[in-house]
Amino acid sequence: MDKFRALLITRDEATKAQSVAFATLTAADLMDGDVDVRVEHSTINYKDGLAITGKLPVVRRFPMVPGVDFAGTVTASRHPDYKAGDKVVLNGWGVGEVHLGGFAEMARVRGDWLIPLAAGLSTAEAMAIGTAGYTAMLALIALEHHGLKPAAGTLAVTGASGGLGSFAVTLLAGRGFKVAAVTGRTAEAGYLTGLGAAEIIDRTELSAPPRALGKERFAGGVDAVGGVVLANLIATTAAGGAIAACGNAGGMELATSVAPFSLRGVSLLGIESVRAPKAARMEAWRRLAGDLDRGKLAAMTTTIPLDAVPDAARDIVAGKVRGRLVVEVG
Ligand code: NDP
Repeated sequence: MDKFRALLITRDEATKAQSVAFATLTAADLMDGDVDVRVEHSTINYKDGLAITGKLPVVRRFPMVPGVDFAGTVTASRHPDYKAGDKVVLNGWGVGEVHLGGFAEMARVRGDWLIPLAAGLSTAEAMAIGTAGYTAMLALIALEHHGLKPAAGTLAVTGASGGLGSFAVTLLAGRGFKVAAVTGRTAEAGYLTGLGAAEIIDRTELSAPPRALGKERFAGGVDAVGGVVLANLIATTAAGGAIAACGNAGGMELATSVAPFSLRGVSLLGIESVRAPKAARMEAWRRLAGDLDRGKLAAMTTTIPLDAVPDAARDIVAGKVRGRLVVEVG
């Protein structure tokens, strides 16, 4: 492929204003790497929304092709683990931030960043999962390592209608946990119970300034939103419980007290997917390919063309996207 289509973010260095437009690039425009991939599918994560809208400084190199995830077929490789024709997946590693990313028909990356497409998954399914699903699985694994079992009680999932939240609801319910879906969109109750939520909690219930310790309501949870919602979740988690802290869709700040940690032994488990080691990635993807209910995966997925990415980026930052968006690239 001599020429290929890409979404490109450029920046006017004088005004620092960024612009987003489709462009035709050539292989010479790609950055260093030892594997070339024909991108078949990508996806829009919250971080991609921030990058494209410029709401937060996610992009740290211009021009940039956004897109922190992609799946496709290797066209050329100088890396010992890959050869032309292999199906591969990329999540994170600064792709779409400092290295040209997935909203383009071609990508060139380091082979060490790739993982083989898990057996039983198509490239479209892999991108329906994307960083959101892979991170939700990292969160589930962290809660399991902590020792949480379904008998401990209800787990809260915040930002439940979003991508990461939808996966957390599905995966936790699939492991037998009772899940309370915390959402600002209670109209999505039917969608969330369909994914396995046993209870729907209006986000406003967890949006008041938290007390140091509240009534013990949850055994823990998966948090996609941060801010006051996470502070309330921490204050209402039962003794010995654990919360996997994944996101910041509701704010970067966290005003809490040490009481839940020192008086109840509550644990806050940080989840970071971008630089997770290969073994952790492979384990998460192996479990996703094996455990994930394909009917629920389809129920949470909407497929859009590459042309629709700029509008969808605005929608995800506005909290209007339900579940996951798969982007058909090539
Ligand atoms: P989505 O936009 O799909 O989901 C975020 C959800 O958060 C929304 O759907 C909404 O759910 C809720 N929400 C939105 N705005 C607010 C608000 N102002 N206050 C409270 N809740 C809000 O994003 P993703 O699923 O892609 O990502 C979720 C978060 O996880 C992001 O912050 C992202 O950066 C982070 N993330 C972190 C990773 C890591 O490695 N740690 C990897 C992947 C994502 P509802 O309407 O149901 O309330």
